[in-house]
Amino acid sequence: MKRKLIILDKDTGEELERVEFTGGYNIAVTNIHDGENLRFIRKLDNSKYGSRHWIKNYTYRSIADKLVEKFKELEHVRPKSILFIEDMEWEPGTSKQPWMAKIKKANKELQYMLGYEYVLETRNYYIERMSTSQIIGILYHELRHIDKDGDLINHDIEDWGNMVAALGKDWATTKEAIQNILDDDFEYWNDLRKAGRQINMFETLRLAK
Ligand SMILES: [Zn+2]
Repeated sequence: MKRKLIILDKDTGEELERVEFTGGYNIAVTNIHDGENLRFIRKLDNSKYGSRHWIKNYTYRSIADKLVEKFKELEHVRPKSILFIEDMEWEPGTSKQPWMAKIKKANKELQYMLGYEYVLETRNYYIERMSTSQIIGILYHELRHIDKDGDLINHDIEDWGNMVAALGKDWATTKEAIQNILDDDFEYWNDLRKAGRQINMFETLRLAK
């Protein structure tokens, strides 16, 4: 889609800026009457980000929205505050425990200029080998790292206990089908835990950070 952004002086009609483009955009504006605070219009949902990452907001944010809506433990999470990016080039190297996904706080500059509080990074190498249910699981896993105060917290075990109990400890890597936690027939974690799957708290899982 061809787009054109033109900034006009409303009083004189003078054209101040003209940009023609075909992709997405983020606009930051300020107003004198609200103290020149930055306001953001974020429409940059699918674009290259740096040399090897793509912005994936258009796919992952809608999943995150559904997760937040469904699971009470995520109700404080605002998917709009997360920049979803995917490393398209990473491949396994010598690291023994490579991560598949991780979430971190956006640095001050990114927060200020783009308005995102977190950056959730995935590795395409893993994503393209996963089922939809696993990708949803990975996003749930990462969102759980955001606590009620907006800080990042660690897992209760190497993973989240409820996920391991419900989906098995290798839910992220198995080639077997795992349950899609967004399916209607997946209701609450606790019920499944009661249904009695054993978890060994000391078993480790190679997974997302
Ligand atoms: Zn984690």
